[in-house]
Amino acid sequence: LAESFDVVVVGAGVVGSAIAWRLSFEDVSVLLLEAGHDVGEGSSKANSAITASGYDTKPGTLETDLIRASNPRWESISTSLDVPFERVGSLVLAFDEEEAQRLGSLAEEAAANGVESEIVSGDRAREMAAAASVEAVAALHVPDEGIVDAPRLVTAYAELAARNRVEVRTSCRVTEFVRADDGRVEAVRLGAETIAVGAVVNAAGLGAGEISAAAGGEEFEMWPRRGQFLLIDREIGRTLTKILASIPTERTRGVLAVPTTNRTVLFGPTAEDREDRGDRATEPETLDSVFAQASRLFPSVRREQVIKSFSGLRPASQRTYRVEISELVPNLVQAAGIRSTGVSSSPALADYVCELLRDIGIVDRPRRNCRRALDRVPRLAEMTSEEIEALLAHEPGYGQIVCACEHVSAAEIHAALRGTVPVTSLDAVRKRTRASGGRCQGAYCQAGIAFLLSLQRDYPPAGVRQGGPGSTLGVAQIDG
Ligand SMILES: Cc1cc2nc3c(=O)[nH]c(=O)nc-3n(C[C@H](O)[C@H](O)[C@H](O)COP(=O)(O)OP(=O)(O)OC[C@H]3O[C@@H](n4cnc5c(N)ncnc54)[C@H](O)[C@@H]3O)c2cc1C
Repeated sequence: LAESFDVVVVGAGVVGSAIAWRLSFEDVSVLLLEAGHDVGEGSSKANSAITASGYDTKPGTLETDLIRASNPRWESISTSLDVPFERVGSLVLAFDEEEAQRLGSLAEEAAANGVESEIVSGDRAREMAAAASVEAVAALHVPDEGIVDAPRLVTAYAELAARNRVEVRTSCRVTEFVRADDGRVEAVRLGAETIAVGAVVNAAGLGAGEISAAAGGEEFEMWPRRGQFLLIDREIGRTLTKILASIPTERTRGVLAVPTTNRTVLFGPTAEDREDRGDRATEPETLDSVFAQASRLFPSVRREQVIKSFSGLRPASQRTYRVEISELVPNLVQAAGIRSTGVSSSPALADYVCELLRDIGIVDRPRRNCRRALDRVPRLAEMTSEEIEALLAHEPGYGQIVCACEHVSAAEIHAALRGTVPVTSLDAVRKRTRASGGRCQGAYCQAGIAFLLSLQRDYPPAGVRQGGPGSTLGVAQIDG
């Protein structure tokens, strides 16, 4: 065989990328394979980006354990990966006495999971978050909930892994494995190439059922649970200082108002079981209902302050958190069914998978001389004018603003384009820098970003893509 790796991780969402990041600190060779044109194009692309505390998940489950183990680590992880994070806390609002009674059982559930929470009056809730509805009569405050730039987290996990010599291959869909007589996976076949493997980690999200079956592992189904969102402009969004939630139902946390790390706000998500894995559509009636529910929590938002609607697909399955060594294939590690909390659990989940690989003799000792952190890229939006002036004196590229809504400079985009994981589309630039993610949604800045992308990667203008193959910008090649 031409090549061999100790571990092949299939799927570079937040789960697979975090696993690759974690394994990059161990003395193993790792190949991370992703079907999409970039990392983080699946469920991890569109979510509420909350780093949950675990106050409302089922006690005693692996999900709760991994969220709890991850939660205290966010300050250090976000610093080392240069990813925006804030421990803003959540308020679950009760609008009448009956709902206020329910807060008591929520607080008990939080305590059972070891999560700190406090029931407060409506007035106290508004002291903590002035934007919260005047109609709220009481609230449960959960201080340890946070928000993170989730797309950037995924790209940062993969980027640090790649800098530590994990090989990351995008646009690479895995369909076939070679099995040995003893039931182990011996190799992964990628077209004409056959790559020998010590172990396979199945982190393929919605594709995890097919990967398990192809590797000879357990049979299970995966389907998308769609969540629709509205994105609210920063003009009003910046007034929201905490995550606002309604009382959860049996099935979901309900619709939320979630501040983002760049001061916009998310209204949503819904939870709709679907069949079509490609269906990221949004529906006007559903969005009307999302707006009505979320603006009950955060009433000062007007409909014209919505700048975008979008949806994400949770990787749902009969069993959530199927994270184990396959019973059928001794060197296949399942990391599947991470439906609703994969961002929140990703650091500890990655540790857990690393330990499973240690149990089967793949991981043995730490790697020496690996990087633990990415270099910090200055972000103008977070700097004072004195800091900006000092920066511009020696880095003039930061003075060239490309995305005015998000204050993203040419230098930040260049830094993203120089990453070890190749950046080949406008969506990939947006994930790493927020450029085109603001009020104009690219209407003004897309041409500038496309220009930088075409220069850096030597694409002709018509070759610049919005996302995956086929999504060109419609820029015609003009000859003569
Ligand atoms: C609406 C919504 C709101 C959410 N809110 C939150 C939240 O606030 N906090 C939180 O913690 N979590 C949240 N989540 C959940 C979180 O997004 C998921 O748990 C997480 O993204 C799952 O990550 P993953 O890596 O398992 O899947 P994915 O991100 O889908 O990654 C799997 C990857 O595998 C690739 N793949 C599939 N098949 C193959 C193949 N054959 N070969 C190669 N690659 C393959 C896919 O292209 C994909 O990139 C939310 C999810 C949604 C949809």
